[in-house]
Amino acid sequence: MTPDLPRHQGQRQQLLALLRSKGIKNERVLEAMGRIPRHAFLESSFEEFAYQDIAFPIAAGQTISQPYTVAFQSDALGLAEGAKILEIGTGSGYQAAVLEEMGYRVYTIERQKALFDFSKRLLDELGYRRIQQKFGDGYKGLPSFAPFDGILITAAAPELPQDLLAQLASDGVLVVPVGDVESEQRMLRVRRGPDAGWIHEDLGSFRFVPMLKDVATQR
Ligand code: SAH
Repeated sequence: MTPDLPRHQGQRQQLLALLRSKGIKNERVLEAMGRIPRHAFLESSFEEFAYQDIAFPIAAGQTISQPYTVAFQSDALGLAEGAKILEIGTGSGYQAAVLEEMGYRVYTIERQKALFDFSKRLLDELGYRRIQQKFGDGYKGLPSFAPFDGILITAAAPELPQDLLAQLASDGVLVVPVGDVESEQRMLRVRRGPDAGWIHEDLGSFRFVPMLKDVATQR
């Protein structure tokens, strides 16, 4: 792994300035992203572009989200430090590291074994040993660790996953891109409303790889 060089640190500051110009105001998010060597999460051939605001392919046909999307979703949770968060779709592990750096207690699930193994080793190496990483189907959540103050889904869900709503604390919040998994999704923030209903806020249009059922079968 390439160490975190002054060059990377400088590029990160430029990325933070870009995110600010795109409307990210949450300093806790920006400071967290300012501490994390995103280049370590990418294949070495992409490393020099790690601090541009773009998504990249990672193993198993998946992607590491673009920094703006990571910042947007991290901000959308809007919870206090110490809140317990479940992330669905560990992927490279970058988003989980951002949540950890924001002071959340992080659980994260991945259904691709290759990515689970990669992110486990990397997050350990970077010192993020408190992040609880699980291999499994995120649609099922983690009932034995519920309730969660926040659930963050980093893959496109065709509809609201009911098992995950059930694992939210009474004042918990679910952030999820919902809609056509072939094209664009709406970023929804969902919380409990009165009379056992749910309140949805539409935060805008995004594009994610699909949230798929069950763990991936080994190839
Ligand atoms: N948060 C990641 C982004 C990964 S892309 C990062 O920071 O790099 C979305 C990820 O969700 C992929 O790795 C995909 O394998 C995973 N995924 C899709 N459906 C899932 C499910 N049902 N359970 C767990 N992970 C899932």
